[in-house]
Amino acid sequence: SICEVAQASSRDVDAAVAAARGALRGWSALAPTERAKYIFRIARRLQERAREFAVLETLDSGKPIKESRDVDIPLAAAHFFYYAGWADKLEYAFPGRTPRPVGVCGQIIPWNFPLLMAAWKIAPALACGNTVVLKPAETTPLTALRLGEIFEEIGLPPGVVNIVTGDGRTGAALVAHDGVDKIAFTGSTEVGKRIASAVAAPRSDGSLKSLTLELGGKSANIIFEDASLDQAIEGIISSIYFNQGEVCCAGSRLFVQESILPTVITKLRHRLASLRVGDPMDKNTDVGAINSRAQMEKVNHYINLGTHEGAIRHDAGTGDLPSRGFYCRPCFFTDVQPSHTIAREEIFGPVLSVMSFRTPEEALLRANNTPYGLAAGIWTDKGSKIFEVARKLKAGVVWINGTNQFDA
Ligand code: ADP
Repeated sequence: SICEVAQASSRDVDAAVAAARGALRGWSALAPTERAKYIFRIARRLQERAREFAVLETLDSGKPIKESRDVDIPLAAAHFFYYAGWADKLEYAFPGRTPRPVGVCGQIIPWNFPLLMAAWKIAPALACGNTVVLKPAETTPLTALRLGEIFEEIGLPPGVVNIVTGDGRTGAALVAHDGVDKIAFTGSTEVGKRIASAVAAPRSDGSLKSLTLELGGKSANIIFEDASLDQAIEGIISSIYFNQGEVCCAGSRLFVQESILPTVITKLRHRLASLRVGDPMDKNTDVGAINSRAQMEKVNHYINLGTHEGAIRHDAGTGDLPSRGFYCRPCFFTDVQPSHTIAREEIFGPVLSVMSFRTPEEALLRANNTPYGLAAGIWTDKGSKIFEVARKLKAGVVWINGTNQFDA
């Protein structure tokens, strides 16, 4: 292990919520342009410290340094820049309505994008004049704690953002707290359901907490026979294997038009063989370490289940994995039936289920056959098909000839 981090008790959560409550009046009464200045300062300081944050993120989470350096940290800074710009423009965003803060926001985030998720939650809350109690995931709290130091360094008024570390018990204490006006949660569907039912109970004054949930995914990529294949394969590879598949929007189901299925499988196999799996601190690493032992066991469970249920597993198969740490060889399955567990449940690992289809209608039917709906991808050169299929895909985001674009 690299360090020990405190398990915040419900008394610690009380103290954090009280601090956020105490800071709320002053923070929300600030002129919006003044709030923006603080948020801009956070963004700039994050940029100055980008290398330190990238190393810390990779050390803590196991994701490749290439990813934390080029994606997570710059994007986190970009979010603070972006929302700083919103602070004094809210009236224009919602004409005829008077924007006002929700109040004290309890925010609970997962381990796959530790700093980015924190930025994603904190930046808009601050821009709108809210105060925050943030609980990072128990396996990845370090960049959030370092971010807390940055808040101090730039002089953010005390109590505006409070960070409590700990596991689900700390999260549950925050969710149940009477002094919290809103809960924002990103994580598993199972915990999300538990939070929704906890938040359904009115507070002591009879009011209800607001709630935002961002839960699991089993996103589909669809490759049509007219797609530019090499480009599509690159997209698929980055969609499911970079970050070890630990991405909510990961394209974990791939639907390939039947005529090109053999070609796609061959190309996938070749590209898989060239992925570098290993030391997250090595800047040439494509696939780093799985975040925790528990997650590793979960991924292995699904891989075994895939074979057991009759799908055929392909992996790059050669090259040693590091002997210390939690590593998973990226793989994909063919001969997958829609009823197979690996085609239905979120795995959150470098595991892809490949299935085929004949017509666009069939592709849509199969892609939409899931209770999830975070994202989807379409790969085709035909403009008309893009609009036709994208319109009918039941997903919050549909990427066209591209994948995992997350600008602020
Ligand atoms: P994942 O599968 O991504 O680890 P979880 O839903 O288990 O997702 O965890 C996401 C976040 O929710 C973490 O910060 C975790 O500590 C927190 N958490 C887990 N259980 C609870 C709970 N009962 N109430 C509130 N937060 C929880």
